[in-house]
Amino acid sequence: DDFCFDLPKIELHAHLNGSLSDQCLKKLNCMDESTKEYKRIADVLDKTERTLTECFEVFNIAHRATNTVDAVYKATQSVIRDFYLNDHVVYLELRTTPRAEEGMSKEDYVSAVVRAIKENNLEIIVKLILSIDRRHSTEESLDTLNVILKMKTKYPDVIVGIDLSGNPHEGKFNVDLFQKARDNGLKTSIHCAEIKNDEEVENILTFGPDRLGHATFLHPSFGGSQSNWDIYCKKKIPVECCLTSNVICGTSKSFQEHHIREWIKSSLPFCICTDDKGVFCTSLKKEYEMVVEHHGLEPKDLWQISYNTVDYIFASDEIKTRLKVKLMNWYNSHE
Ligand code: 5GP
Repeated sequence: DDFCFDLPKIELHAHLNGSLSDQCLKKLNCMDESTKEYKRIADVLDKTERTLTECFEVFNIAHRATNTVDAVYKATQSVIRDFYLNDHVVYLELRTTPRAEEGMSKEDYVSAVVRAIKENNLEIIVKLILSIDRRHSTEESLDTLNVILKMKTKYPDVIVGIDLSGNPHEGKFNVDLFQKARDNGLKTSIHCAEIKNDEEVENILTFGPDRLGHATFLHPSFGGSQSNWDIYCKKKIPVECCLTSNVICGTSKSFQEHHIREWIKSSLPFCICTDDKGVFCTSLKKEYEMVVEHHGLEPKDLWQISYNTVDYIFASDEIKTRLKVKLMNWYNSHE
């Protein structure tokens, strides 16, 4: 147990509004505790196991709670502290969708997140990936991309990448948008094959993002096409695996029946992530434990997974070297 906490870990797939702890959400909601609405929210938040519908309810609660610049700042600060203090994450790539609300533009939203990241003084390096929501129209997505590019010029040391997320049943991968992001120096991480959709998966793989989110239905024994798998094996793109999230959402049958087993079996690149630790009531420590418990790995293998993950981060070589030294030192002092 202590090993999984103690091991310096790297988190590469964490959505800001899905990562908020229940305490933070209750604090931010600032609602009148005597109302029916408060009671309903409190009931959902008090559950430590949630149905899928309840999970999506938590996204809505989170979005309502982070609708001012101050709340976005506090939420970011809280998530960073939580990953460092409760999970011993030493390098975090947080992702979030720039969102405009009354009195807050998309730029204000991103600035608040960046400010919380820059003012962090814990021993955790934090970088930011900005998300495009696949439910949005091409026009809206282009608007978001322009905001992202502008903010990247302003904060090149914090904003490192772009992601495509949101309901996989809606919208589609727009290659031109992501090519433009890439041409402007952003790394790309794309949610891929969360549902079976061979045509889109082929388009994403042909584009060749720097990392893939989930890749649940990519391997042929999980319903993916052989031709897509062949493309994947040529490119060997690192996959961000989020076990609890996939099991709760029902895309993976169980922890044992999770597609991570194919990546482990064939030594393909992957990392272990939480996705939405608040929504799915998980932690990175717990995700590492699940991989040991259900996929027959030893603690030493977990160290290797954390070490390998350094190569998949979107930050500079200098930061990679620093993280590798940290992990080597930890290894030597735990032999
Ligand atoms: P935010 O971007 O608002 O900080 O984080 C919440 C958002 O992340 C959700 O509204 C959704 O768009 C996205 N998200 C969170 N978890 C998942 C997931 O498992 N799959 C996909 N496709 N999107 C997700």
